[in-house]
Amino acid sequence: MPVYAAPREDIRFVLHRMIGAGRIAALPGHEEVSPDLVDGVVDALARLADDVFAPLDGPGDLEGCRFENGRVTTPAGFAAAYRTYAEGGWNGLDVEAEWGGQALPHLLMSLMHEMLSGANMALSIVPGLTQGAIRALRQHGSEDLKAAWLPKLVSGEWTGTMCLTEPHCGTDLGLVRSRAEPAADGAWAVTGQKIFVSAGDHDLAPNIVHLVLARLPDAPTGTRGLSLFVVPKIAADGGPNGVRTVGIEHKMGLHGSPTCALAFEGATGWLVGAPHRGMAAMFTMMNAARLSVAMQGVGLAEAACQKAAAYARERRQGRAPRGAVEPEAAADPIVVHPDVRRQLMGMRAFLGAARLLTYETGLDIDRAERDPDPAAREAAADRVALMTPILKAWCTDEAFAAANAALQVFGGHGYIRDNGVERLVRDARITQIYEGTNGVQALDLVGRKMGQDTGRLLRRFFHPLDAFLREIGADPAARDLAAPLAKAFDRLQRASLWIAGRALADPTEGAAAASDYLRLFALTAAGWAWARIALHCAPTAATSPADADRIATARFFMAKVLPETGALLSAITAGAAPLMAIPATRL
Ligand SMILES: Cc1cc2nc3c(=O)[nH]c(=O)nc-3n(C[C@H](O)[C@H](O)[C@H](O)COP(=O)(O)OP(=O)(O)OC[C@H]3O[C@@H](n4cnc5c(N)ncnc54)[C@H](O)[C@@H]3O)c2cc1C
Repeated sequence: MPVYAAPREDIRFVLHRMIGAGRIAALPGHEEVSPDLVDGVVDALARLADDVFAPLDGPGDLEGCRFENGRVTTPAGFAAAYRTYAEGGWNGLDVEAEWGGQALPHLLMSLMHEMLSGANMALSIVPGLTQGAIRALRQHGSEDLKAAWLPKLVSGEWTGTMCLTEPHCGTDLGLVRSRAEPAADGAWAVTGQKIFVSAGDHDLAPNIVHLVLARLPDAPTGTRGLSLFVVPKIAADGGPNGVRTVGIEHKMGLHGSPTCALAFEGATGWLVGAPHRGMAAMFTMMNAARLSVAMQGVGLAEAACQKAAAYARERRQGRAPRGAVEPEAAADPIVVHPDVRRQLMGMRAFLGAARLLTYETGLDIDRAERDPDPAAREAAADRVALMTPILKAWCTDEAFAAANAALQVFGGHGYIRDNGVERLVRDARITQIYEGTNGVQALDLVGRKMGQDTGRLLRRFFHPLDAFLREIGADPAARDLAAPLAKAFDRLQRASLWIAGRALADPTEGAAAASDYLRLFALTAAGWAWARIALHCAPTAATSPADADRIATARFFMAKVLPETGALLSAITAGAAPLMAIPATRL
C-alpha cells in the first residue's frame, strides 16, 4: 500500500491560484517571501514529509514508545528523523531572526503541520508542542526568559510541552491544583501532578521545557487564579530539576507519541507573564495549537483519501451497475461502485474546502500582525478568532470521518493492521478531543465568539459572503453554485438569530444548539470556498483536467453535502427541550 505523498499540486493550487502567494510579500517584513520562495518551502517540506517522516509512521505505531527504569524511549528512527527536522530549521519557521528563526509567514506553518501530520502524526506532535511553547514565551515571557529558553527551543535542540491537565481536571482548568511557592532568586518551586502531557518525556532531546499551569499561594480560585511557569526537565547545573516521569499512557492510537504522567516535586520554575494571568498566556499557545490540530485533521484526511483512492482503483469486486467496465478482467475495480465513490468524493470535498479555509486563516494570522492598515489588522484578527473553533472542530470531525470512510473502502482489509488504515482511524480520534474537545469549541463559538461586540465577528463573515452572493447571483453560469450556497447562508443567518434570541433568556438553548451550529457554519464556509474554487477554475476547465475535477467536486459538495444544512437548522430550532427531557438519574 502506498504511504503518504505530500499533495504538492493541491497545496500549490491553493497558495498560488486561490490565495495568491504574492499577497504575502505585500506584508511589511515579508517582502522577500516571493512565490518562488514559497514553492521552495513547499518542496522542501514535502521531501521531509515523504522521505523522512512517512516511512516511520507504520513501524513507529507497531513498535510504540516504552517506559523503562524511569526513561521513555521512542520508536526506532524517531530521534534521527527529529534531528533532520531540527537541523532543517523548521522549528523556527515563523520565529524572528533574533531568536534563530527564519521569520517566514505563519501561513507556511499551516502547510508544515498539514504535511508532517499526514506523513506521521505521532512524530509531528513533538515539534507542534515546541512551537506552542515558543509562541507563549515570545508573547508573554520577560526578556530574560526569552534569552534563556528561546534559542534552544527555536533551534530544536530542546523541545517544549504544555502541562495543563491533571487527573481530576481536564476541560475545567479552574480546578487545577498544582501550586508554586516562592523560591530563591525570583524563581518558584512548582509542585503537582500533570497527566496526558504530550512529549512530556522522550529521548529526542537532552532537555524538555515544560510550560505549566499552577497556582500561587494567594491565588483566587478558578481560572483567574492560574499562573504560567516555565519549568525545565534539567536544572541549570545539569542535574534533574524535580520533574519525574511517572509513566506513559497506553493509548488507542498515536503509539509513537509519548503521552506522559509527570510529577513536579518542588521543581524550579519561572513565572511567564503576570501572576494570575496564566490563562491568557496559555490561550496564546492553545489558539495556535487549535489551528495546528485543524491542520492535523487536513493531513490525516489527505492520507486517508490517498490510501482509499489507490485501493479503490486496484481492488476488483463485482461489476458496475450498468454492466462491466473492464469486461476482460474477472471483476471491475471497486471505484466503479457509486457507494465507494460517495465515500471518496466526500473526502475530496472536505479536503479542497478545508485547505482553502485553513490557509486563509493562516494568512489572516500574518495579516493581523503585519497589515499596515489597522482596520485590516482588526478584521483579520476577528476572522482568526471566529474561524479557530470552527476549523478545529470541523477539520478533526471530518478527518475521523475520512479515516473511517477509508477503512470502509478497504472493507475487511482496512480492519486488519497490514494496510495502515485502522491506524489512521485510531490516530485521528484524539484530534476531536485534545486542545479543547469539539463540544467545547462549539461552546466557544456560540458562547464567546457569536455575541462578541454585538456580533462583530459574525459580520466579518456574513457581509462578504452576502456581497459574494450578490455578485455571482447575476451570472447565469454560476446559478448551480449560487442557489445552494444562498440557501445554506440563509439557514446560517436564521440559526444565528434563533440562537441569539433564545440563548440570552436561557443559556441551555445556546449550549444545546452549539455543535449543530458549528457544523452549519463550517458547511456554509466550505460551500463558499467551493463556489470560489469552481468560479476560478471555470475558464481553464476545458484544458485542465485537474480544474475540471475541482468544478465537479464543487458540484458534488453543493448537491450532496450542503443540503445537510437544512437538517441542522431544523435540529437547532427544535431547541433544548428534546435533549433535556429525561432526568439525569435515568439517562
Ligand atoms: C493523547 C493525548 C494527548 C494529550 N496531550 C495533552 C497535553 O500535551 N497537555 C495537556 O495539558 N493535556 C493534554 N491532553 C489532555 C486533553 O487536552 C484532555 O483530555 C481534554 O482537554 C479533555 O479533558 P478530559 O479528558 O479531562 O475530559 P473532561 O473534561 O472530563 O470531559 C469529558 C466530556 O465532557 C464534556 N464536557 C466537559 N465540560 C463540558 C462543558 N462545560 N460543556 C460541555 N461539555 C463538557 C467534554 O466535551 C467531554 O466530551 C491530552 C490527551 C490525550 C488523550
